[in-house]
Amino acid sequence: MSGERTPYIVVEQVCKSFGTHQVLRDVSTVFRTGEVTVIIGASGSGKSTLLRAINRLEPHDSGRITIGGVEVTDDIATLQRQRSEVGMVFQQFNLFGHLTVLDNVTLAPRRIHRTPRAQANDAAMALLTRVGMQAHAHKYPWQLSGGQQQRVAIARALAMAPKVMLFDEPTSALDPEMVQEVLDVMRELARGGMTMIVVTHEMGFAREVADRVMFFDQGCISHDAPPQEFFQQPANDRIRAFLGRMS
Ligand code: ADP
Ligand code: MG
Repeated sequence: MSGERTPYIVVEQVCKSFGTHQVLRDVSTVFRTGEVTVIIGASGSGKSTLLRAINRLEPHDSGRITIGGVEVTDDIATLQRQRSEVGMVFQQFNLFGHLTVLDNVTLAPRRIHRTPRAQANDAAMALLTRVGMQAHAHKYPWQLSGGQQQRVAIARALAMAPKVMLFDEPTSALDPEMVQEVLDVMRELARGGMTMIVVTHEMGFAREVADRVMFFDQGCISHDAPPQEFFQQPANDRIRAFLGRMS
């Protein structure tokens, strides 16, 4: 269980404000290797800001975040190494529109890891096969459905061989009939032992796949428990109300 796993990302007393609005209030938690954490909570509670702070898309004001024991700071060389360890998938797939699926997936390995094109292509085809997109390798993003684009975005993140994958509402922008194909890919990743932090409103996924469910409330982690406990005995009225709105 999680107690035996190695701490990988450690968040200590992290605060972040936008102007006078404090969005993260003394957030402390540990994400362990191989663990799948699902983060839920109302819109505006700070979930995305925490994910963005982990790979420094949003610098925090105080406190400390470490990845594999190394602090996340503005040091460019360290940050580049950390960002290749931390894959990120956004709500709005953010594929490069002028590149084919294959080139979307090979771009970072070729540019950042200097992987030769043939080798990068082979690795990308293997990843596209894993997400069921191998037949679409030579298409452009605009030729794909939202679910297909998101599966390519996952393959693109995996191409850097990350040690952890962060997902920020990966299915929220999708038509309902495309949600499952993306969740299926994420479920397979989890089964393969990937360390994952997933912000989502998909409670079925949380119940089935998460090792722990974390509830964000006004910039704080107000509860953090294994899914069975989290859903069976909601720890407080705000969680109960939130779950009521979700179901
Ligand atoms: P969540 O992902 O839980 O919906 P966010 O972390 O995106 O919440 O945002 C938390 C709060 O911070 C929201 O009130 C949001 O409007 C605000 N916020 C987020 N990013 C910025 C920004 N770049 N500038 C100003 N306010 C922001
Ligand atoms: Mg968000």
